[in-house]
Amino acid sequence: MNDSLDPSDWRALHEIGHEILDTVMEYIRTVESRPVWQDLPGYVQSALSESPPEAGMSVGEIWNSIKRILLPYSLGNLNPRFFGWVHGAGTPVGVLAEMIAAAVNANVGGREHAPIYFERQVLDWCRTIFGFPSSSGGILTSGTSMANVIGLALARGRGTDQRTREGGLYSSSRQRVYASTEAHVSIRKALELLGMGSQALVEIPTDETYRMRSDLLRERIAVDRESGFEPVCIVGSAGTVNTGAVDDLRRLGEICQEENLWFHVDGAFGAAVRLSEKYRNLVDGIEEADSLAFDFHKWFHVPYDVGCLMTRDMEELHKTFGTEATYLLRQERGAGSGIPWFADHGPELSRGFRALKVWFTWKAHGTRGFAEAIEANIRQAKRLARLVDADADLELMAPTTMNIVCFRYCPSEVARSEWDAFNTNLVVRVQESGHTVPSTAHVDGGVAVRAAIINHRTKESDVEILIDVIKSVGQTMIQERSTQHRSRSHE
Ligand SMILES: *Cc1c(COP(=O)(O)O)cnc(C)c1O
Repeated sequence: MNDSLDPSDWRALHEIGHEILDTVMEYIRTVESRPVWQDLPGYVQSALSESPPEAGMSVGEIWNSIKRILLPYSLGNLNPRFFGWVHGAGTPVGVLAEMIAAAVNANVGGREHAPIYFERQVLDWCRTIFGFPSSSGGILTSGTSMANVIGLALARGRGTDQRTREGGLYSSSRQRVYASTEAHVSIRKALELLGMGSQALVEIPTDETYRMRSDLLRERIAVDRESGFEPVCIVGSAGTVNTGAVDDLRRLGEICQEENLWFHVDGAFGAAVRLSEKYRNLVDGIEEADSLAFDFHKWFHVPYDVGCLMTRDMEELHKTFGTEATYLLRQERGAGSGIPWFADHGPELSRGFRALKVWFTWKAHGTRGFAEAIEANIRQAKRLARLVDADADLELMAPTTMNIVCFRYCPSEVARSEWDAFNTNLVVRVQESGHTVPSTAHVDGGVAVRAAIINHRTKESDVEILIDVIKSVGQTMIQERSTQHRSRSHE
């Protein structure tokens, strides 16, 4: 019997540990040789429908089952031909960082230890890249969804003298938050979670480039004020998931100034273009945000999960999340010092060491490395858009601002009324082919095939393959239809 959970045979654990490390690195290196996605065989589900394990088993046996039920059946977002959704691709370096972070097993809620300074360092870098003032604060989160919750909590609480924190929702039920109809669903969720309810969300229509109509926004704010509502916040999207559109952040910032509203920006993936000298102007005005939510696990390729919330005034974080309990406990010196505590800047007390993987990945690749990968993806998106444009059977369905291309397959054999259903099926068939994974988006013209290009491994040839696969699967579907049609007419 062991007297702890540490191994009795450290040597054996070292050996299997090395084997695991070698295998996972090889797994990443050879990702392109495997199907992008494949259907899960029944044995995966059955292996994961067991009762809680009573007795422990060897790491070797566990590892064998991982190789069988996990490694081949991931979604495929490491693969350069995965374009399905806005998913990061991870890096081998990030794997090492995760391993070290797990070894240190830091609780980054507070107190005085090096991990705290890693997170502060990362936030300081964020301050620099986004041009936030030295008074600004921030916190790493599980993702942009949580960062949106925090940003909107700041918006809800601002200027209310702790009214909402103390009195709950009663006092805030007339508050209104404005976002475009293209804003991410996590905004609505955040408002529901914050008790403001989705009724607090006012969706403003977009123009033909899918950016919020600021004229309609102003009108609506005026009407709402007259009707006794309390506008508190405008949410700007810096990169929408449907089309990659960026709201006119400058303009929205000005309106917030004029109307005395909180300016929150959801820049989940799009904020990252700020790193690129070439494309940083796409998100001009982002530096004016009162709060900015973005992800490290998307276009920065840090392993899941890690997002970030930055706010212009660190005091706002304190006012919203600080608790007396931690103030009372604070020490000037010793292991219990380290003020301010992250636990006073967000909803969670215990917090993992997400900062290390960000720090490590950023150190390893540099801002320039991130920027080059981002620029390559934008170039590939433009190339894809040109290929679509040049093809008589394909049609672009939204402007390509950034890294998202929306188009459809609409050859003469398919009637206009069938385009939506046809493209919906087409995307599923392409995913099942294992060659590449796009997804669908609903845009003004109907159902689009959407390619979100957000992978540092993607090459121009991969977007060419996407077009080839779409066309060949599309052709197959047309042939199948005419065969079915013929056999039906023979009945
Ligand atoms: C991904 C995304 C989110 C949600 O972020 P998570 O990290 O998945 O929680 C919010 N907004 C936009 C625009 C996104 O792309």
